[in-house]
Amino acid sequence: MTDRYASFVQSGAGRALVKRLGLPDPPRLRRHTPGDPLVHGPVLLGASAGGRLAEPATKILTSAGVELRDPSAATDATARYAALVYDATGITDSTELRQLYDFFYPQARALLPSGRVIVLGSPPGECGSPREATAQRALEGLTRSIGKEFGRGVTAQLVYVTEAGDPGTLTSLESTLRFLLSGRSAYVSGQVVQVCAGTAQPPADWDRPLDGQVVLVTGAARGIGAALARVLARDGAQVVALDVPGAGDELAAVANEIGGTAVQLDLTAPDAPSRLAQHLADRHGRVDVVVHNAGITRDKTLGRMDADRWDSVIDVNLSSQERINDVLLERALIPTGGRIVSVSSIAGIAGNRGQTNYATSKAGVIGLVDSLAPALRERGISVNAVAPGFIETRLTARIPLMLREAGRRMNSMSQGGLPVDVAETIGWLAWPATGAVSGNVVRVCGQSLLGA
Ligand code: NAD
Repeated sequence: MTDRYASFVQSGAGRALVKRLGLPDPPRLRRHTPGDPLVHGPVLLGASAGGRLAEPATKILTSAGVELRDPSAATDATARYAALVYDATGITDSTELRQLYDFFYPQARALLPSGRVIVLGSPPGECGSPREATAQRALEGLTRSIGKEFGRGVTAQLVYVTEAGDPGTLTSLESTLRFLLSGRSAYVSGQVVQVCAGTAQPPADWDRPLDGQVVLVTGAARGIGAALARVLARDGAQVVALDVPGAGDELAAVANEIGGTAVQLDLTAPDAPSRLAQHLADRHGRVDVVVHNAGITRDKTLGRMDADRWDSVIDVNLSSQERINDVLLERALIPTGGRIVSVSSIAGIAGNRGQTNYATSKAGVIGLVDSLAPALRERGISVNAVAPGFIETRLTARIPLMLREAGRRMNSMSQGGLPVDVAETIGWLAWPATGAVSGNVVRVCGQSLLGA
């Protein structure tokens, strides 16, 4: 579960050898610790002519304590920035894309390690003309390429923000900018996030964005689920940690450590949804956030796969999520402002040899998000998924060495992610402040080449 090569490369002797031999050079990523400033350096904020988001972005970043610089005053070629933020919403024709070049070209070497590039755009589907939609769609190519080009742990994202200027949308833009700028998004790159119209509640304290929220985490005994329980509790949530009875000791240890409660339940048991609903109703009267994290793999190529492998993977990874959502929604245990976050996988996007069952279940999770999000928006409930790439857990430690090394290095960060990276991303989608982000699938894969 440890990446010995990355540790070696980050040592003094390793650095010299890697440079001389031209080997992969995984950078040390900046990760979040409570109390950290959002960024460690000034942020350059640029805007296309007529951009509508420069003003709100300025307000948001200034109130977050960020030192902002203006490109017209940025004449010092030696200046270094923690982030480049660009409002591209004023670009309404392909001929105006030149403004992107004019902003980014002089700054291509100006980012600090683990720096951030964030481009703000208008959703192409909501643009006033085909030309504007075309130009806005073009932004994806720029951000994804910057993510692959800049290196040194720099991430690049595109955030499409709906036209509506309602407070919920702006709060969600704030929570999204805070997440993407911070060390919480260390392993998220090359992503397109949609901020729609919707309700959102800013927290009293951005260091405890989940204060008072009751959160259910399935598969919480180990791996990503245990990291999730810790991160969500750190951010103020009351965590209900669920796992199979066979993992009872590990589950109890996690729950005790974070002052949460443990529920031993096999999600595939016929009475699991009703028992879980009863537990949540009796103990808390509600569940604000449901995180469907529990998952299994039973790999075999399709011609060698017995029906049990197929059935168990679809049932744990997909059908159980549907049954639990149905019961919790029917009994109105998820209130207005509630959040559902499901764990998919890049295998569900790209497909994977030996994983027809798993990839089917994980693509189904994306379908679940697509189909539930519009209906639940009216109830003020958001539904999103994260799709992890190669994450250092027991699950990936079992992959044969050569395949494991390929999985680790074939991404813009040249390393695997940590469970905490997935947990931080799920945390952001769970915040009451992120309500206007719904129907998204956010990859936590260091911009993996798979399915890109
Ligand atoms: P893991 O095997 O370490 O943990 C999964 C947990 O789910 C275990 O504690 C297990 O007991 C629990 N679980 C399994 N079946 C259950 C059931 N029927 N009822 C209740 N709990 C059950 O795996 P992980 O790597 O932490 O993965 C967590 C999630 O992330 C999974 O959905 C997985 O598919 C997904 N994922 C992981 C990676 C990765 O690289 N590790 C990549 C993509 C997606």
